[in-house]
Amino acid sequence: MTTHTSATTTVVDRLRADAGAPVLTPADPGYDAARMVAATLVDRRPAAIVRPTGADQIARVVTMTREAGIDLAVRGGGHSLAGHGVSGDVVVDLSALDTVHIDADRRIGTAGGGVTAGSYTAAAGQHGLATGFGDTASVGIGGITLGGGIGLLTRKQGLSIDSLLAAEVVTADGQILEVDEANHPDLFWALRGGGGNFGVVTRFTFRLHHVPEVVGGFLALPATAGNVRAFAAEARMAPEELSMMVVVMKAPPMPFVPPEHHGTPIIFAFMCYAGPGADGERALAPFRKIATPLMDQVQPGYYADLFAGDERPAVHSVTRSMFLDDIGDDTAELVMEGVRSATDFSAVVQFRPLGGAVARVPADATAFAHRDRGYAVMAASLFQQAEMEPECDTWVSGFAAGLSGGSAPPYVNFLGDEGPDRVQAAYPGRTWDRLREVKRRYDPDNVFHANHNIPPSP
Ligand SMILES: Cc1cc2nc3c(=O)[nH]c(=O)nc-3n(C[C@H](O)[C@H](O)[C@H](O)COP(=O)(O)OP(=O)(O)OC[C@H]3O[C@@H](n4cnc5c(N)ncnc54)[C@H](O)[C@@H]3O)c2cc1C
Repeated sequence: MTTHTSATTTVVDRLRADAGAPVLTPADPGYDAARMVAATLVDRRPAAIVRPTGADQIARVVTMTREAGIDLAVRGGGHSLAGHGVSGDVVVDLSALDTVHIDADRRIGTAGGGVTAGSYTAAAGQHGLATGFGDTASVGIGGITLGGGIGLLTRKQGLSIDSLLAAEVVTADGQILEVDEANHPDLFWALRGGGGNFGVVTRFTFRLHHVPEVVGGFLALPATAGNVRAFAAEARMAPEELSMMVVVMKAPPMPFVPPEHHGTPIIFAFMCYAGPGADGERALAPFRKIATPLMDQVQPGYYADLFAGDERPAVHSVTRSMFLDDIGDDTAELVMEGVRSATDFSAVVQFRPLGGAVARVPADATAFAHRDRGYAVMAASLFQQAEMEPECDTWVSGFAAGLSGGSAPPYVNFLGDEGPDRVQAAYPGRTWDRLREVKRRYDPDNVFHANHNIPPSP
């Protein structure tokens, strides 16, 4: 049970009186649902969850909590792997900032800070348009964009931040700023990769891309080290219209997997070719030749439909993230060894090939500096009983160290609660110092610290 100080109680009273927005406390119906996040091991009880509908209300909440020295968390879609969306005494829950406006003529999409990837994608899809945001409908465009945004259109369109044109931001001092390349360019640079460190983004403006049709869906092959290496190599050589998310794991006992393969290692890939059917079939042919597919649901359709459902099994997970340049024979062997050897829990390796439009943006143009990397990789262990967390964490940590040689930097959006060194490692070279300097300018007192924190420079 979390206890709160009298300062917190006073702020909650002030929020109720003056924020102009609904405030949920532990005594209110709906509070327990509102504090749930995608990270199943996180069980936090903020003193208040505020649901503002506009930037002015958010400015008031930021000012009140800052003046009282109360920890403030910002929640978009609630999918932070570290549960950051509820890691404050007061939470600004942006779910009511849920408006999407698609200007099809100008190819510009405008969305509130609490919009999910699924609802933006559905609205844009009605016009044959898209902005890429990962592969999961329920992820918030807020968190994914501020950390970079790797998804099913990445090699064609770049990261989500590469389509970001402007943002409305409530800063730590309660100002509401319009931010783009011309206005507050330092802040605009930092928002594109630096996470929620610099303020609350109440509105995002994105470039939309014409994506009238795709060839996409799930493809499963038997996993061997040779197949994993070949899949990864083909993925990097494929035309940049083809992006994908590839998982290597033991086949779950799901209806789509033939029963004789349950429990055997498979490659399970979520494919998306952003272009016409015939070209897509050509691009996919090399993958289908690696081995006879166990399942092949890749077919012509609409990009928005790939986002239709994201029901996930209710399991716990601990993860480690890394960028790798290559997935060669040795790495593929290690992947297979890890997946095979895990018996009390499931071992999963996920990789997403980069290149294409991601690599054409200079490394210092945004705060995402991993432009020349080959793959964003995540190692995970999945388990049913929460008590297994320490064991699974130790295992995944050793497994990931083997895959990465111990030194590969992480993708900030795939970071759990792994300490300040790992956060710094996500921002190599000059990026870290530049971010700290921007932080000093816009949030010198580190009001926005319930995140993968970038401390202000002295
Ligand atoms: C099931 C699942 C699938 C995923 N798939 C992908 C994927 O395909 N590609 C990918 O790149 N990542 C993916 N991610 C990672 C995801 O991008 C990050 O976890 C991201 O932080 C989630 O954003 P959110 O708004 O949903 O989360 P929240 O937990 O609500 O927010 C996380 C943090 O982001 C900041 N934040 C969020 N919104 C705002 C805002 N409007 N203004 C200021 N700060 C804000 C805050 O600091 C907040 O604490 C996935 C995660 C999960 C759990």
